[in-house]
Amino acid sequence: MPERLAMLDQYRRIKARYRDAILFFRLGDFYEMFFEDAIVASSLLDLTLTKRQGQPMCGIPYHAYKPYIARLLKAGKKVAICEQLTAPGSKGIIERDVIEVVTPGTTIEEDFIDHASNNYLASLCSLEGRMCIACLDVSTGEFRAYSSMEEGGGGSEAGAGAGSGAEFLRSELYRLAPREIIIQQSLYERPEMGAIIREMEGILVERRPDWSFDRVKALGELKERFGVASLKGFGFSDEAPELAAAGILLEYLDENAKTRSPHIRSLLPYDRDDHLSLDEATRRNLELVRNLSDSGKRDTLLSVLDKTKCAGGFRLLRQWILQPLRRKGLIEARLDAVEYLYRDQLLLNDLRRRLGAVLDSERLIARLAMDKAHAKDLLALGDSLRASLSIGDLLKDRSAPALLTEGLDEEVEKSCALVSGIIDRSIKEDPSILLTEGNLMMDGYSAELDHLRSVKKDSTQILEEYLEEEKNGSGIQNLRIRYNKIIGYYLEVSKGKIDAVPAHFIRRQSLVAGERYTTDRLAEIESEINGATEKIAELEKRLFLEVRESLKIHIESMERLARVIAATDCLASFAETATEGAYCRPELLEESVISIKQGRHPVVEACLPAGDFVPNDLELDTEGACFALITGPNMAGKSTILRQTALITLMAHIGSFVPAETARIGITDKIFCRVGAQDNLARGESTFLVEMHETAYILNTATPRSLVIMDEVGRGTGTLDGVSIAWAVSEQLLDAVRCRTLFATHYHELTSISHPHLVNLSMAVLENEGEIVFLKRLKEGAAAGSYGLHVARLAGIPEEVLARAKALQKRFVSFERSLSPLAEAEPPAVASPRIRERQPSRELFSADDMAIAKLRGIDPDRMTPLEALQFLSELSATLR
Ligand code: ADP
Repeated sequence: MPERLAMLDQYRRIKARYRDAILFFRLGDFYEMFFEDAIVASSLLDLTLTKRQGQPMCGIPYHAYKPYIARLLKAGKKVAICEQLTAPGSKGIIERDVIEVVTPGTTIEEDFIDHASNNYLASLCSLEGRMCIACLDVSTGEFRAYSSMEEGGGGSEAGAGAGSGAEFLRSELYRLAPREIIIQQSLYERPEMGAIIREMEGILVERRPDWSFDRVKALGELKERFGVASLKGFGFSDEAPELAAAGILLEYLDENAKTRSPHIRSLLPYDRDDHLSLDEATRRNLELVRNLSDSGKRDTLLSVLDKTKCAGGFRLLRQWILQPLRRKGLIEARLDAVEYLYRDQLLLNDLRRRLGAVLDSERLIARLAMDKAHAKDLLALGDSLRASLSIGDLLKDRSAPALLTEGLDEEVEKSCALVSGIIDRSIKEDPSILLTEGNLMMDGYSAELDHLRSVKKDSTQILEEYLEEEKNGSGIQNLRIRYNKIIGYYLEVSKGKIDAVPAHFIRRQSLVAGERYTTDRLAEIESEINGATEKIAELEKRLFLEVRESLKIHIESMERLARVIAATDCLASFAETATEGAYCRPELLEESVISIKQGRHPVVEACLPAGDFVPNDLELDTEGACFALITGPNMAGKSTILRQTALITLMAHIGSFVPAETARIGITDKIFCRVGAQDNLARGESTFLVEMHETAYILNTATPRSLVIMDEVGRGTGTLDGVSIAWAVSEQLLDAVRCRTLFATHYHELTSISHPHLVNLSMAVLENEGEIVFLKRLKEGAAAGSYGLHVARLAGIPEEVLARAKALQKRFVSFERSLSPLAEAEPPAVASPRIRERQPSRELFSADDMAIAKLRGIDPDRMTPLEALQFLSELSATLR
């Protein structure tokens, strides 16, 4: 078989085993891709697609492959690296095979993962009526599994009720933002679940048959792996269905990473009852870790709170923001630690300086555990541990709150000090990152290595002495000894001195500028040197691997230290933000209240010149006025006060100080933040549908302990529909849910709702000779008008358009007045069981009004007979 055909045949055989990956097929100095792979990769990597004998192919240089793999992983692809296993030139076709499969969720290679966020591999399945999730960050060793009752199952988890399984899944997937998902086939086939998965971009999705999610098998494997008789100590019963999801992750990791991962030492639950729940729309609308404009970190809560000094601290801060706490004791523990640091600024400065010397310990530990750490990684780990231990020393001798010191026991300190000591004594300064070239171990670490090194050094000396000898013997003063890989050491004689070359010189090469020779003695010295160099490289590799292996028994201690340091970094970051921003410690209460004095929006404030932000007070109490209806013109500051209240509440629940003079915040189970009229074209839903979905979700899931923020709900449809929906939604929140609510609207009509739990607030506006100034101050009472025409003027709408709008406005107002006064509504026929002491509410327009308004609005001359008939039937329906 001709060579190329044989090679392609080999390619096909290997590719058949890695159908779902892009196969990097090593051909000399290139990784080549063929057929479908070449077409996909050339477009993702901007490579030129060529054709050889009709077959598409493209390639990349083997020494610069990492950026290409990084881009493919980012696009949600897997890469199988196929190497040449025999040397070129040996008989027959070169043997090749896949040595590694790189996938986005299992890699720990620095170049392929983002240091600023966790790199989760997640698995999803539905078993025994529960939606199960497991997530694993191989790069830090974090491993969790949990589940939620599916639709109709009840239970305390957020999401019980309509579509709870899908909402749970969406919320968790967006919180975790995994790079790779393994999903049970039948779950993926459910239309709503499949849609959620497809909606998430750049994620590699692997579907696995239902039988592969096997709880019993997973339980056995997990017990064996962690060396325990039961998983009860980790918080799982043997029957927990989520174990099946956890098991498949380890199976998948073992399949792909091809090394054990001893740093994955425990499986933890994630108790949603311990956390304040935030759905995806809320996280997005509050711009917690991504902004709405370009999904970047700029102008987010994360950007304001982030004063962390190390990568582990930053990742943890991000997690804390996305999963605030709900247990008062846990929050108070964080607040105690923040206050302690806040009150001792000298300590805080010293602590933050020391934190600055901590490197990404979690990921260095993972690399060590998975046999990927090179010598520079070990040095970095040693430095990082030393810096971490110095932080422990700093806090230990004081009466620092528990959170700052817990976990730092003697064993952890001893183990970590031992590790950094071993690294200090063994690894040389500025070592090689390769294992095969020597230059790894320190002088004095091994007597054998020292001996070989001196032999090598002496040989160099001998070479120099020999050169002198030959120079003197031949009289060729510019004689040189040089080295190249092909002929080894040689004596170089320039053209003009060839005649002086002695008889024992053996010519190896002729060049334009001179000749190259060897001698018997030179060959002898060379073999001594080579022998020593090879032996040194081999010995150094062995010694390095021994050191690396010996450190692994301390992984658990190192992980514990890394975790404490990451938490300390977050707490110090809160203390620093509190200092810089003049924040206060919030008081947490069991009652459902919010009482904020002089509150500010942390992000808007940070964007304005110092002192420009206007602080506001706000009081909500489910026993009294818990529903604030906020009216006022556009640009008056409604959205800002809404979001600032949600952000202050959230900040209090992550243990941060808050931007206010005082803040008393009742423990909250859920925050919902909805902004009317946002298209979600990616999901194929129209503005109004999205708005209604989200509103329905709130009405179905909010509890009296929740905080609901609604901004301009009902804006996505016509005015009559919009105002009616906004009105009815307000009533439902007031009567059935009775939770703390901020409801901003430009539907002035809503201010006529009268309810003991509703308070009308508005944004103060100063009107002076036709000019208006927004004071950004919240005041009691409804807004005097919507000032839309003023805002239009500010925006530069031409005068003639404004004049026409004003005339139309007058006509509409008189039309509205012509409608009959508000009528009393009938109480609802069937009261919902959650409705308490429903207040008689008033309908805004009667059916007759609506019919008259509709009749006035049509032009019979322009209607087709069919439209006229339809209209008639609608009209009669309205009146019925
Ligand atoms: P609305 O929702 O009423 O249209 P926004 O809340 O969007 O108004 O506020 C409009 C602008 O006013 C924002 O860009 C913000 O920078 C500024 N702003 C809002 N509230 C304040 C405040 N309390 N102090 C200073 N500037 C504010």
